[in-house]
Amino acid sequence: MRILAVGAHPDDLEFLCAGTLAKYSKEGHKIFMAHLCNGDMGGRNIKPEELAKIRDKESKAAAKLVGAEALGPIAGDLDLYPTKEMRIRVVDIIRHSKPNLIFTHSPNDYMPDHVITSQLVFDAVFTATLPLYKTKYKVHEPIVPVFYLDTMAGIGFEPTDYVDITDFINIKKKMLLCHKSQYKWLKGHHNAEVTNFLEIMAKFRGLQCGVLYAEAFRRLNVWGRIKEVSQSLFRLP
Ligand SMILES: [Zn+2]
Repeated sequence: MRILAVGAHPDDLEFLCAGTLAKYSKEGHKIFMAHLCNGDMGGRNIKPEELAKIRDKESKAAAKLVGAEALGPIAGDLDLYPTKEMRIRVVDIIRHSKPNLIFTHSPNDYMPDHVITSQLVFDAVFTATLPLYKTKYKVHEPIVPVFYLDTMAGIGFEPTDYVDITDFINIKKKMLLCHKSQYKWLKGHHNAEVTNFLEIMAKFRGLQCGVLYAEAFRRLNVWGRIKEVSQSLFRLP
């Protein structure tokens, strides 16, 4: 299996699906972690160009912990729009990684980069299958199932599937802690203490499905997208 997760910012996948990625990496699946925005607005007393460089290093360090290939970014923070050019860039992320399964943000998440990432992935995942739609990479014809990631703090999100990440909670935390530049920023600007936030979300989703820690997902249930592969991947023990 090849699994592609597409988040908006360098630390989003760590909050929302790193336990699942770690679990499937351990089972021998190939993981791709993409973020579409470079994270250059996630700070206060630092130049955006410098911050983008720091966040690139942090995201690569986190991806390395699960042997994932890091992809992106394609835009600055708040500079992501559902344009043709951006759609082509996302099509090429999909065509490059040739996934059997895709994770991305829920369309009702809390800020524009997350919402637009969701939209771009939805648009690109269909476009990527079309042989006559020419881009830098070769067509990836399979119709890939898409699962939406939990929203931040789980607001307005009704899961269809859960993954037990009890054995992977520590690596999920380690991955998130690779994003050192964000501890202070998130505490100050969003009043969120990162590991506490992660712990509460994973415990809450675990409580819902009867395990200690879990991550929650919602299937994109449109014609042609739901296949056997997703059934087996999300089977709880
Ligand atoms: Zn984000």
